[in-house]
Amino acid sequence: MTEPFLSIRGIRKTFGAFTAVKDVTMDVAEGEFMTFLGPSGSGKSTTLYILAGFQDPTDGDILLKGQSLLSTPSHKRNIGMVFQRYTLFPHLSVGENVAFPLRIRRVGQAEVTERVKKALKLVRLEGFEDRKPALMSGGQQQRVALARALVYNPPVLLMDEPLSALDKKLREEIQFEIRRIHQETGVTILYVTHDQEEALRLSDRIAVFSQGEIDQIGTGQELYANPATHFVAGFIGDSNFINAEVLSAADGKAKLSLPGGTVVDGVPMHAGKAAGKSASLLLRPERLSLSSARIDNGLAVTINDITFLGNNVEVSTQTGNGESLSVRLPFGHEAISSISRGDQAWLSFEPQTTHAFA
Ligand code: ATP
Repeated sequence: MTEPFLSIRGIRKTFGAFTAVKDVTMDVAEGEFMTFLGPSGSGKSTTLYILAGFQDPTDGDILLKGQSLLSTPSHKRNIGMVFQRYTLFPHLSVGENVAFPLRIRRVGQAEVTERVKKALKLVRLEGFEDRKPALMSGGQQQRVALARALVYNPPVLLMDEPLSALDKKLREEIQFEIRRIHQETGVTILYVTHDQEEALRLSDRIAVFSQGEIDQIGTGQELYANPATHFVAGFIGDSNFINAEVLSAADGKAKLSLPGGTVVDGVPMHAGKAAGKSASLLLRPERLSLSSARIDNGLAVTINDITFLGNNVEVSTQTGNGESLSVRLPFGHEAISSISRGDQAWLSFEPQTTHAFA
């Protein structure tokens, strides 16, 4: 087997009695865009700082092309880093900010000039060498930070929520730029965010962090279609959960009884659950069909609200025992004209679009 490019092995980090990172293990391929996605406090940044060398792990190792990084101090790891705040040197010009990593490495002036020019061209800031950071917008400053991180061609670039200080429109614009730069340079990127949309937009694969552990690693599509845990199902895509009773289970599929007596067979389910036990059933709002006419074995609901969201219409419904279920229908869908608030309606779905969890 070939050596993985970057291998994070059994990383654990404690702060006193508190364990911030429990056991993080993953391999990252050369040129891959890997995102750490998870809520605040789930250990994403701590893992990234350990990679950067800002913190030492309590346990575990990090190998780059088979060599442990742990004994190499941060400034010698040759890893680029971009933070949430722009962290540019305010007294230095844009050109000197970008040149900084080259100055530390004692690169000759002619090469510095050329490399700075190339890096600024990469981030579409050609000709900004003499500008002071204070005279630039947040988005431009973050591009300068990106140019500075890439100017010495590091094999790995770490990015810790680099866009969270920007407004939505600018964020989307720079997401697009980051994708382009990733494709143009082929640099391996590890990216931290708590924003699922950003993760889905940028990443080759996503590692979903929860309470210091990785619940699942996969492409966005894999995580959406086949979530390994209740947490992943709730964090990627939109989700409804309702309580169900397991009637039987075998070979990763379950037969469930839902409130109101609806029975569904062939529901994907991780980890065997015994008959008679309760389970939580994931129903994606966009995978539910709604009908104002009774459907055999359909889930009876009451319409609580109908909200127009541009391309989509969100219908809030409630089951007989008070569980809320949101349904997303495309704008203009025929079912919408036949329902009003307070009406009875029926939901149906394909079992393979759902998932049951413990
Ligand atoms: P955020 O997006 O909020 O930064 P995160 O997923 O990146 O969240 P971390 O910053 O890695 O999470 O923090 C994980 C946990 O470790 C948090 O509960 C945090 O309070 C704790 N923690 C981080 N650094 C320290 C430290 N130096 N001392 C004590 N606790 C820490």
